[in-house]
Amino acid sequence: MPPTTTEASRYQQLRGHLAYLKLADAAEALPAVLDTAKAEKLSTTATLEKLLRIEVQATEARRLTGRLRFANLPTAATLDDFDYDAQPGVDPALIADLASNRYLDSATNILLIGPPGVGKTMLAVGLARRAAEAGHRTYFTNAADLAARCHRAAIEGRWATTMRFYAGPAALVIDELGYLPLPAEAASALFQVVNQRYLKTSIIMTTNRPITEWGQVLGDTSVAAALLDRLLHRSVVIDITGDSYRLRDHHARTDNLRRALRPTTPSQGPYGDHRA
Ligand code: ADP
Ligand code: MG
Repeated sequence: MPPTTTEASRYQQLRGHLAYLKLADAAEALPAVLDTAKAEKLSTTATLEKLLRIEVQATEARRLTGRLRFANLPTAATLDDFDYDAQPGVDPALIADLASNRYLDSATNILLIGPPGVGKTMLAVGLARRAAEAGHRTYFTNAADLAARCHRAAIEGRWATTMRFYAGPAALVIDELGYLPLPAEAASALFQVVNQRYLKTSIIMTTNRPITEWGQVLGDTSVAAALLDRLLHRSVVIDITGDSYRLRDHHARTDNLRRALRPTTPSQGPYGDHRA
């Protein structure tokens, strides 16, 4: 029997093994890898490594796509897009440290506080994306959605399942606490989500309300105190007090307009000395 026939049937068997094991990318790459191996006289080890690396890379890419789809991120923002010059209150070194995802190992929470438009959601999305990219299960939601979903779950008898869902991700973003008035039972749902994750997994929370007002926001001062106790115990608080990024262009335009109208008094602010 000529060796090529044996080789051909071996090749078919190999294809069969790869198909059976559902290694579709390796199966597809097999002819090219074998050609390269022959042409470049690769060792058996090098050839196998080359073939399996293709499958590993494809699997990693698929898993990343899956994690990002699950993460439910509302925008394509990344930390690299963040303009630190526009927001001097945000320390680039701190964000770089958080971008390493080390805070997830110690279940440290991140609280981003500040008025609308200062980049809280952008940073939360950027950090969540980093976590997902590094292989962590990540989920983005906002306080109103979380409250609504917990409310439905309570009515439909799915409370335990829903709590397990919010306990699952290594990084859970709860965006926009304080923007919308929350229904009465939301405080306890939010507390339970925070409490079951306490010291186990991280929460990235954003809010436009100082923590002194959370009693009002949650409609219950003792629940707010207990929630803040868990949330802040091991946490990084980023207090952003700067100007709204959304209004920046608007400010620049009005500043330009003002300068154009009053060319002799360029340094005056909006409440400038009107006696001049
Ligand atoms: P917040 O959640 O604090 O209300 P966002 O994160 O939604 O603010 O930011 C509002 C808009 O301005 C978004 O389009 C965001 O990408 C952009 N933005 C805010 N801060 C910055 C920044 N420092 N660099 C680049 N873009 C920014
Ligand atoms: Mg926001």
